[in-house]
Amino acid sequence: MSDALRSRLVENLRLVHERMEAACHRGNRSIADVTLVAVSKYAEMEWVQELVQLGVTDLGEARPQQLMARAAQLPSHVRWHLIGHLQRNKAEGVLASNGLIHSVDSVRLFDHIAKLGAALPRPPRLLLEVNISGEASKDGFIADDLLAAWSHLSSSPSVEIAGLMTMAPLNDDSESARPVFRALRELRDRLRFECDGRLALNELSMGMSGDFEVGIEEGATLIRVGSSLFEGLS
Ligand SMILES: *Cc1c(COP(=O)(O)O)cnc(C)c1O
Repeated sequence: MSDALRSRLVENLRLVHERMEAACHRGNRSIADVTLVAVSKYAEMEWVQELVQLGVTDLGEARPQQLMARAAQLPSHVRWHLIGHLQRNKAEGVLASNGLIHSVDSVRLFDHIAKLGAALPRPPRLLLEVNISGEASKDGFIADDLLAAWSHLSSSPSVEIAGLMTMAPLNDDSESARPVFRALRELRDRLRFECDGRLALNELSMGMSGDFEVGIEEGATLIRVGSSLFEGLS
């Protein structure tokens, strides 16, 4: 990797950290409670290697095959996040790489993972993806469907539901994401209440390059950032 590209990556990462810190300050959050997931789906392998060298520990991929291929090439301390749609026949491979699946978007997929999880030494951790805005083009549970399935989902012993994930509608104005992120947090509070607090559901995965500050202000513990880290490199 050329020195010019490396400095660009260092600068991008510095700016993302600066934005994270400012948002934590505004939202009265601790920076230690927000994990930057570097979304490497459009990034070249050497850029990703460099980011890991720079101390980034969490990487996100949209496609299961790419996650598995890259997990095999990068240091084992890297924590992987699958953020894109998962087909049931790919679930086993993703579980083998110990990744956190952010995109469990149906009862069928959940049940399949639970079946696989029953044979694993530890229940796999996952997030349930919610389609808060209800756009037809989006994956994810509709909130009412999730509430209806909740007693089934929350009683499975062979998975660990760590929290929820959502994507805000694409919009140039990041403020338009705020009601969506707030609704996800309120849904989490409701689900926690409905299972008598048996599940803490601490993780909220919300916010991308254009709106992660709003995500942090509204309680995100995981932000998924791609283009802000890699812009200007190709
Ligand atoms: C690509 C992607 C991201 C990252 O988007 P950027 O705008 O590049 O930061 C985040 N979440 C999901 C689900 C994605 O597919």
